[in-house]
Amino acid sequence: MKTIYLASGNAHKLHELQAALEEAGLSIKVAGPNTIGGMPEVEETGSTFESNALLKAHGLREVGPSEGWFLADDSGIEIDALGGQPGVISARFAGLGCNDEANNDKVLEEMKGVPESDRTCRFQCVLALVGDRVEVTFAGACEGKLLTERQGDGGFGYDPLFLPDESASTFAEISLEEKAKISHRARALTKLIEWISSQ
Ligand code: IMP
Repeated sequence: MKTIYLASGNAHKLHELQAALEEAGLSIKVAGPNTIGGMPEVEETGSTFESNALLKAHGLREVGPSEGWFLADDSGIEIDALGGQPGVISARFAGLGCNDEANNDKVLEEMKGVPESDRTCRFQCVLALVGDRVEVTFAGACEGKLLTERQGDGGFGYDPLFLPDESASTFAEISLEEKAKISHRARALTKLIEWISSQ
């Protein structure tokens, strides 16, 4: 059986991928980096989600078995009024080692006074799959508006500030199931599953 090694120790992401593969009737095993000695240190030096996802996937491939497939993702939020920032530095917008609170505070500060019509933004996610003679990437996006204050206590990251165009509630107010229908990650994942199914 083929194994996909995921460049993330996040159990939720692992289960999400395993469930999506099973739902598509694909018998592929999903394993975390701990099964091959851990995720090697990879510097995310790319200027795009795609290049960073590829860096992580190739980084894991270097320590894994030659017949495996290696999957990594990179994601973030692009705010048009900030010239696409924070983008690839979404996780560390307020500085290295900062938390979600600090990132949201910084975004709110920089967006002060920006009118509603100019508060367009989107979450982006790119999945990169690499292996022997395989290197493919899949992108997903979710368009929305950046609010002027936090709304909701669920989710993570910029969820409380993000109002998707397809919902009247923020990502921090909707259930995981609802988020999975419209999220950037879910959309990229759907494309990945379609590609694997076509192989
Ligand atoms: P990474 O892809 O794990 O590097 O995550 C990048 C960062 O983007 C996260 O730390 C969050 O700040 C942000 N981000 C990515 N996806 C989401 C999401 O679905 N909700 C909220 N924030 C997100």
